[in-house]
Amino acid sequence: MHELGIANSVLQAVKTEAARHAGTRPCKVGLRMGELAAINQESLRFCFEAITRETEFESLQLEIELCPRRHRCGNCAHEFAIQDYNFRCPQCASLETECISGDELELAFLEVEEYGTCTAGTKGIE
Ligand SMILES: [Zn+2]
Repeated sequence: MHELGIANSVLQAVKTEAARHAGTRPCKVGLRMGELAAINQESLRFCFEAITRETEFESLQLEIELCPRRHRCGNCAHEFAIQDYNFRCPQCASLETECISGDELELAFLEVEEYGTCTAGTKGIE
């Protein structure tokens, strides 16, 4: 499953990052995801919970930030977010625009807490 591989990559990145901060543990990880990345958020959350269950990362929360597709105008260099598949430049009405982002998948942030002070694990996950 595509999402399982991504969940594993995220966890791996968290572990690498956590290793650099001795005495802390990760509480929340933020993921920036382009809408073109074609990832099922629910499925990704499910996989992430499955691989962190009963591990030291069980209380780690996953936050997903969805990024819209963006285009740049070839005529006036204006950059804009695409809505409703309307690729026309809102500034000069040119249709010569190209996709510049929207398929990214990257770690946006990682929140860590000192051992013993993390309360994220007390929240129930539906
Ligand atoms: Zn333009």
